[in-house]
Amino acid sequence: MAITVKKFGGTSVGDISRIRNVAQLIKNHLESQADSKVVVVVSAMSGETNKLTALAKSCVNSPNPREMDVLLSSGEQVTIALLAMALIDIGVPARSLLAQQAKISTDRKHTNAQIVDIDTTKVEQILAANEVPVVAGFQGINDEGDLTTLGRGGSDITAVALAAALKAEACYIYTDVKGVYSCDPRICKSARPLRFVCHEEMLEMASLGAKVLHTRSVYFAMRYNVPLVVLSTFEPDQETWIVKEEELMEKPVVTGVTYRLDEAKITVYRMPASISSLNHVFQVLSRENIFVDMITQTGFVGDRTNISFTVPDEDSSRALALMESVLEELDAESSSLDRDIAKVSVVGIGMRYNTGVAADMFKALASENIDVQMISTSEIKISVVIPRKYCEIAVRTLHEAFIDVSPEISIES
Ligand code: ASP
Ligand code: MG
Repeated sequence: MAITVKKFGGTSVGDISRIRNVAQLIKNHLESQADSKVVVVVSAMSGETNKLTALAKSCVNSPNPREMDVLLSSGEQVTIALLAMALIDIGVPARSLLAQQAKISTDRKHTNAQIVDIDTTKVEQILAANEVPVVAGFQGINDEGDLTTLGRGGSDITAVALAAALKAEACYIYTDVKGVYSCDPRICKSARPLRFVCHEEMLEMASLGAKVLHTRSVYFAMRYNVPLVVLSTFEPDQETWIVKEEELMEKPVVTGVTYRLDEAKITVYRMPASISSLNHVFQVLSRENIFVDMITQTGFVGDRTNISFTVPDEDSSRALALMESVLEELDAESSSLDRDIAKVSVVGIGMRYNTGVAADMFKALASENIDVQMISTSEIKISVVIPRKYCEIAVRTLHEAFIDVSPEISIES
């Protein structure tokens, strides 16, 4: 039995006419591929989860996480029912399923739970009866029988996990953009749609700013070897396939250029250049659960140095206050916060096999006189922190330097 999982995001089911459009799309698929079975996963209507969050915050300052999950999961309950109705109305037998019915088990971490198991018996029974299961994304059930949710954007995870459990042929993520691009088409006219991206690249691109897929869904797809396809519900003529590295025939040095504007930089000035001082700084941050990304040490003078690091912007004031509070203990001079930064990255699996990428990157940035404040690299990416006002120009310049010139990648059949 050839099963495909199709997941529709919030904008794809954003109003009634869109829900009817999705129903028709599923009907067309079933009619054109007679022996195929479809399992559908849906998100809440766009904006609904935000509204529910705001509602909770208007009720109490810090909502109880268990009750938050009961509230948040209601958004998906609405869309599975509406989509199942719309399918039945056009002659496609369908049945909506909540997490407890689809047997999606998670751990107990309310509002950020992880799927631990899916018992597909019920879904398979529905498929065997020639009905379309319409499963609520984003929600799960824990071992105490309580509702959980998987974290914002978590319907992607439901879809990929279901596809893995059902050994589906592929998991299609229908969204409002036409797949994954070599960079953000809103700021770079020559952004090109990518036909194939490997999992590692997609993971880097997702965590470095390409917001098409939930990072954890890509992990799932990689771990369970589920072919993952991203496409637009409204113009489904173009697809991005996320595949194993071995399946890429050509490995461009740079596949994508990404950027993030949601990090801020903290600097502690003239602290002792010793490992115990470094330890002190990062212990303080870690105790407060502040995520640190890039770290640099500069301006060595005598036994003194400056240390800079980036943190999520939303934690930056807290991180600065923490540094201010330990300046004396640290024997450091001062600290500062710079929120006017951007992190721009180039990502490509081909970097593993090529040298000179950093050189080309700095050459391109130098040609526009863009100063680099911090650098970090991995095997398949190089990221730089630059002043925020240069973000767009940096992205365009790097795209021009690395991608406009390289041929489109293809895949072995
Ligand atoms: N409705 C949830 C959210 O908005 C889950 C999802 O859309 O994937 O985060
Ligand atoms: Mg979504």
